[in-house]
Amino acid sequence: MLKSINHIGIAVKNAEESLKTFLDIFQFSQYHREIVESQKVEVISFKVGDVLIELTAPTDESSTIAKFIEKRGEGIHHIAFETGSINNELERLSALGLNLINPVAVPGAHEMLISFLHPKSTNGVLMEICQKNHEFQEE
Ligand code: ZN
Repeated sequence: MLKSINHIGIAVKNAEESLKTFLDIFQFSQYHREIVESQKVEVISFKVGDVLIELTAPTDESSTIAKFIEKRGEGIHHIAFETGSINNELERLSALGLNLINPVAVPGAHEMLISFLHPKSTNGVLMEICQKNHEFQEE
């Protein structure tokens, strides 16, 4: 079961520069910064209500975010939906015939396990399924 929106990923060229804009808009003071090696990205995230906004910038030209920005420019990149059991969800979505970019979950930001569904399967919306890594309870 996909129980909530965990975060919205925004593709940016430079996370540090974009942070200034979003600091002004949302007037937050706490944010989290990390490099996600598996995705070759730098992520700066902050919370708006229960939802994280993740400013995601490429750390390498071969990053899929770099290719996205080159093709489509900066902007909303993906919406991440949280589940308590990513393996069950991937099995269920695969059985529906959806195209999974990551058939096996990979490490993401905030120590989560993540997987992307191919936007060709989902009306052009890049959807991420994520599970907090310390929660392994079944639904
Ligand atoms: Zn994400």
